Amino acid sequence: MSYDTNNIFAKILRGEIPSHRVYEDDHAIAFMDVMPQANGHTLVIPKAPSRNILDADPETLSRLMPVVQKVAVAVKAAFEADGVTVVQFNEPAAGQTVYHLHFHVIPRNEGVALKP
Ligand code: 5GP
Repeated sequence: MSYDTNNIFAKILRGEIPSHRVYEDDHAIAFMDVMPQANGHTLVIPKAPSRNILDADPETLSRLMPVVQKVAVAVKAAFEADGVTVVQFNEPAAGQTVYHLHFHVIPRNEGVALKP
């Protein structure tokens, strides 16, 4: 499948729709999920136009993963969480709904389920 430049995260990257950005560097941004599954649910995306992990080039992934780690450490501390779920989905069959590569970074606490 090809990359659609009109997906929501591409519009967020271009500043066409608002987002609560918590991190930005030359290659990635992180922003709060608009429908969080837990307090502090953050999304990390590359600036490069990848649909998902299946078409991402290795350079994009190698630049992105340290940001995912940085955000995971930061949200765990900021939200005083017991742990962090890091997850991402590829194609509709796997649950992907926005077609720009993204990692969910979700603070978790003992005994607290994610919101559906
Ligand atoms: P997916 O199911 O594709 O892995 O996750 C897409 C995520 O993007 C969902 O968690 C959804 O809440 C989030 N999302 C969808 N539209 C927007 C938006 O306009 N702004 C933000 N910040 N998050 C969005």
